[in-house]
Amino acid sequence: MRYVDEFRNERVAKAYAEAIRRTTTRPWTIMEVCGGQTHTIVKFGIESLLPEAITLIHGPGCPVCVTPLEMIDKAIAIASRKDVLFTSFGDMLRVPGSHTDLLTVKAQGGDIRMVYSPLDAVRLARENPSRQVVFFAVGFETTAPANAMAVFQAKRFGLSNFSILCAHVLVPPAIEAILSSAESRVQGFLSAGHVCTVMGYEEYLPLAETYRIPIVVTGFEPVDILQGVYMIVRQLEEGRWEVENQYRRSVRREGNLPARKLLAEVFEVSHRKWRGIGEIPCSGYRLSTKYAAYDAEQRFDMTGGESEESPLCIAGLVLQGLKKPHECPAFGTHCTPERPLGAPMVSSEGACAAYYHFARGIRTTRQAAGVE
Ligand code: SF4
Repeated sequence: MRYVDEFRNERVAKAYAEAIRRTTTRPWTIMEVCGGQTHTIVKFGIESLLPEAITLIHGPGCPVCVTPLEMIDKAIAIASRKDVLFTSFGDMLRVPGSHTDLLTVKAQGGDIRMVYSPLDAVRLARENPSRQVVFFAVGFETTAPANAMAVFQAKRFGLSNFSILCAHVLVPPAIEAILSSAESRVQGFLSAGHVCTVMGYEEYLPLAETYRIPIVVTGFEPVDILQGVYMIVRQLEEGRWEVENQYRRSVRREGNLPARKLLAEVFEVSHRKWRGIGEIPCSGYRLSTKYAAYDAEQRFDMTGGESEESPLCIAGLVLQGLKKPHECPAFGTHCTPERPLGAPMVSSEGACAAYYHFARGIRTTRQAAGVE
């Protein structure tokens, strides 16, 4: 299959692994931002191809995982209302809230429907004028244009029974938060190719310059990841910190200008809380004043509110790359994909789920020594 097979080619992957081995002279720690990249790294055993001096750590790039618990609780409260038809992508349905999840609410009679596009939710609103139709708008810059289009269409159709529960997050402020943390070990970033397909990569130039850190916009197949790592290692070994684009088949410097124009029309940048990390300034979208009538939090009086995370879950440390999933005491015991304690075990892009499905045999040094 074009654009897949050549990026899973074993011979090419091994050639990049060999080039990384030849180039590396000392230890380097590299973070992949996106959960899709984490999934590829774990599924295809990319780390086993790399020299021991290269450490890959997994970043906060799974939107389901970073959606704060109180937002899940708000979704559950709205979806439980008799007058609401609640719509969402499938991966949000199993994310545990404080007391239940959307799938359980559905089993108990809630009108919750899985959709494949936010425009399906707009269609449902047109077909069901007596119901309040709400779409759970979760995601990075990647999914934001489709959600913006849904709100834009709803306004164009004059729909008064459509709204979105908006939990959009933005990648560059999260990278900056990680880099400015005193605990950060990250020396290079693989940035998310799909986010940059929409937004371009100009926002990353000041980050690379300020923190003197190489950033490579990278795709999602094994050869993409290995080439991205090679580009980072070359910069690190040569003492450079530039933004480079490995994912040229999709990303242009300026991104997708019509999509960015629509985003600027429908959304405005706001502070946003990230699960396990806390509030990151200017790291999310909310609806702009012109479209504020489509905000489900306002419509159902759901603003504010705090929820308590499970004390067993160390998702915050996992999402910041400070711990790996198998270092969580609950991993594979109290927390499994069937009974997840935290969002990274639910989502297919979550680091904990990726380790559970593809790398459950990995043991921590303490476990190997028989301490745990
Ligand atoms: S394994 Fe489960 S409990 Fe541990 S960090 Fe991951 S989601 Fe949280």
